[in-house]
Amino acid sequence: MGDEDFMRRALALAEAGLAAGQAPFGAVVVDVDGAVVGEGHNTVAADCDASAHGEVVALRDAWRRLGERGRLGSCTLYTSCEPCLMCSAAIVQLGLRRVVYAARGTEVPGARRLFNADLTGAAEWAAGRPGWRMPEIRGDLLREEALAVMARYDWG
Ligand SMILES: [Zn+2]
Repeated sequence: MGDEDFMRRALALAEAGLAAGQAPFGAVVVDVDGAVVGEGHNTVAADCDASAHGEVVALRDAWRRLGERGRLGSCTLYTSCEPCLMCSAAIVQLGLRRVVYAARGTEVPGARRLFNADLTGAAEWAAGRPGWRMPEIRGDLLREEALAVMARYDWG
């Protein structure tokens, strides 16, 4: 199992969210041994929870399954879309080792991005400041597939 396999799982979760009437974002947390330890999709509308982005849902699931916060630091997060600033803050606080995303934050229809930034912008900001440990980032993996899923959602 490699990056592409885990991203396909994140995209399948985005599809599941879409089928359930939720915004089309999915995420998977994978540990150092390549085991899926958390997953989820956006449930903002279903849970009346503005923070229930796919990444946060998957990180909650992983923390519960792993049982301890410290183990999240060695994990990789795969997400169908680049993490927004809220999710980036959660990722940095938990100290995740690596993040892989498909579509870019700028490609979310109608997105209002605080500070005009997402994870990549946050990492660029942190790069020039001491004391920040940012995850290694790989973007644009299966981006076209993610955009195709996003295009099927009614963004209203
Ligand atoms: Zn987010």
